[in-house]
Amino acid sequence: MSSTAEDMMELHWLFDMLQHIDVGLVVLNEKYEIKLWNSFMENHSGMSSSIAKERSLFEVFPSINSEWLQRKLDNVIALRTPIFVSWEQRPHLFPFKSYRPITGIADKMYQNIALRPITNADGSVKYVCMVVYDVTDVAVSKESLSSANRKLDRLSKTDPLTQLQNRGSLDKTMGSAFHSFQIDHGSYSLVMGDIDFFKKINDQHGHPVGDLVLKNVSKLIASSIRSSDFVGRYGGEEFVILLPNTDADSALFFSEVLRRKVADAKIATGNTEISVTMSFGVSQLKRTDHSVSDWLNRADGALYKAKAEGRNQSILAR
Ligand code: GH3
Ligand code: MG
Ligand code: MG
Repeated sequence: MSSTAEDMMELHWLFDMLQHIDVGLVVLNEKYEIKLWNSFMENHSGMSSSIAKERSLFEVFPSINSEWLQRKLDNVIALRTPIFVSWEQRPHLFPFKSYRPITGIADKMYQNIALRPITNADGSVKYVCMVVYDVTDVAVSKESLSSANRKLDRLSKTDPLTQLQNRGSLDKTMGSAFHSFQIDHGSYSLVMGDIDFFKKINDQHGHPVGDLVLKNVSKLIASSIRSSDFVGRYGGEEFVILLPNTDADSALFFSEVLRRKVADAKIATGNTEISVTMSFGVSQLKRTDHSVSDWLNRADGALYKAKAEGRNQSILAR
C-alpha cells in the first residue's frame, strides 16, 4: 500500500474513533457555526449531525448564555490558548439528560468543557474544538458528600427533641457575641427561662407528655424571636435566648411578653389540655463581665430569684 493510502486509512480510523468516543466533540467556526458534531452529541441531543451542521450553536441551543460563551470562544481564537470550564463553575453547558442509573438525584448531565483552538496548516486559527466530558458521577458523589456534611453539621448543632440549638452550639454563639462586644460595645442581652414545676408534669402525666410540653414551649419561643436572635435548649427544661442589639429594658420587655404567651398557651395532650408557666432571668452584657460565664451567671442568679419570689415572673440582673 502506498504511504498516501496508509495515511488515508489512518485518517479514516481516527475519524471513526472520534465519531464514537464517549466524549462530546463539536467544532465551531468563527461565526459559531457547527462544523463537526460527533455521535456523542447526536445521541445526547437527539439531533443528527446533518441537521446540526452549518447552524449556529446558539440557534440550536438557545439556553446557552451566548454572551458568556462567545467571549470565551473569541478568546480561544485570539489568544490561541485552550480554556476549561468545570462543572463547579457551571454545572452544564448543554442541557442533556443524565442516563446514569445510579444517579437518581441528577436528572441533568454535569459537564466539564474544554475549548481548544484548532490550528490550520498555515498556522492560522479559525476553528475551536469543544470537548464535552460527562462528569455526572463525580459531581453527584461530591454533591451528596457535601450535602451529607451539611446535614451532619446541622445535626451536631441541633437539639433532637426541640429542634432548637443545643447547648454546645449556643455556647459558641454566645462566645461570638462576647467577642463582638469587646469590639463594638453594643447591647447584647440574655434571657434564661425555666419551666416552673416541670417535674410535676412528668409525674402527673408521664414523660411523653412532658416531652410534648417541651416541644410546644420551644415552638412558642422560636416563633417569638427575631431572625437575628438565637435560642437554645440549655438543659432539660431550661432555655437561653440571646438577643443582639437589645438593652436590658427591651430584653425584660421581651421576656415578659414571652412569659405571658407561655402562661396563656393551652397544650393539647390528647385527652386533656395542659398549661405551664415559666420564670425568667435577664442580663445585659456589661464591661465588668470577664467571660460568657459571668454574663450567664448573672442571668442564672436572676432566674433563681424569680423562682424564689414565687415563679411565673421575669427578673432583671443588675
Ligand atoms: P422549678 O420550678 O424549680 O424549675 O421546678 P422543676 O420541677 O421544673 O425543676 P426540677 O429541676 O426539679 O425538674 C426538672 C425536671 O425536668 C426533672 C427532669 O426529669 C425533667 N426533664 C429534663 N429533661 C427532660 C426531657 O427531655 N423530657 C422530659 N419529659 N422531662 C425532662
Ligand atoms: Mg423547672
Ligand atoms: Mg431546671
